[in-house]
Amino acid sequence: MSETTVFGKIIAGEIPAEKIYEDDDCICINDISPKAPTHVLLIPKKPIPKLADATAEDEALLGRLMLKAGDIARQLGIDDAFRLIVNNGEGGGQTVFHLHLHILGNKKYTETDG
Ligand code: 5GP
Repeated sequence: MSETTVFGKIIAGEIPAEKIYEDDDCICINDISPKAPTHVLLIPKKPIPKLADATAEDEALLGRLMLKAGDIARQLGIDDAFRLIVNNGEGGGQTVFHLHLHILGNKKYTETDG
């Protein structure tokens, strides 16, 4: 499988990142440009370009990512105060085309936050 995105290079160990967690399926790193006091990225090792490209074959992987997001939030002490964001496609604000979940926390969120 060819890997060309920055996240593929981080997963392959070709470029450095501040690693929070790693297992056979995924890696979690600090975002290089945090948008909240805590901002980490949970990235499946499988290079699915965007959420809309996931298929039924990815069902278990996507479920594991959601559960792992909760685990990581607990590990970071933000399990009562975080949000998950998945940007999908250019129009959805996605800039790196390797599926990833943003875990943002430690900021007081309101319903009107973008
Ligand atoms: P997207 O806009 O695709 O949903 O999110 C991409 C995220 O990746 C952005 O929040 C951006 O700051 C982060 N990012 C881009 N390049 C790097 C990098 O080289 N290292 C890390 N740790 N994060 C990156």
